[in-house]
Amino acid sequence: MPLLNDILKFNASFVDNKDYENFITTKKPSAKAVLLTCMDTRLTELSTRALGFKNGDVKVVKNAGATISHPYGSTMRSLLVAIYALGAEEIIIMGHKDCGMGNLDVDSVVKTMKERGITNQTFDIIEHSGINIQNFLGGFSDVTANVKSNIETIYHHPLFDQTVPIHGLVIDPHNGSLEVVQDGYKKLNQLT
Ligand SMILES: [Zn+2]
Repeated sequence: MPLLNDILKFNASFVDNKDYENFITTKKPSAKAVLLTCMDTRLTELSTRALGFKNGDVKVVKNAGATISHPYGSTMRSLLVAIYALGAEEIIIMGHKDCGMGNLDVDSVVKTMKERGITNQTFDIIEHSGINIQNFLGGFSDVTANVKSNIETIYHHPLFDQTVPIHGLVIDPHNGSLEVVQDGYKKLNQLT
């Protein structure tokens, strides 16, 4: 795989030239926040730069669709650890327009899997073990509703500290503009 070769070649000079010195920071986020957003390539840098964050300011959790798919999955675990152990005091859930997980065609994904060698028997075994493939791989039709749904999942989590504000945002990957889905401070005021 040429990509790995390129990575290792670059890395050797990166370390030799001490380019890493530009990125030295601490484990604790200086803006005291954790950001959950999408793995979309357009957001690789935009997701933090458009919010005014620089390296070291926030914990960043990324996955397909900025979605908490299970209350005891790795995304929720990351948010809880960020809050309880790594210095985050606020949560930002940021979906984006034109998300690849919006109206994802699961049938098409399954078809591609089968073309690449995953057998019908494997799908049968998975279904019989209680996994619904549509639910497992499925996306969402409305990004704003998805952000709200994620926020509710966190608020209903028994291990969540209800005094932590959760902000909901939707970013436009074309120009970086933000829409506020939920102002976490207002929600906190409603709860108290
Ligand atoms: Zn996305």
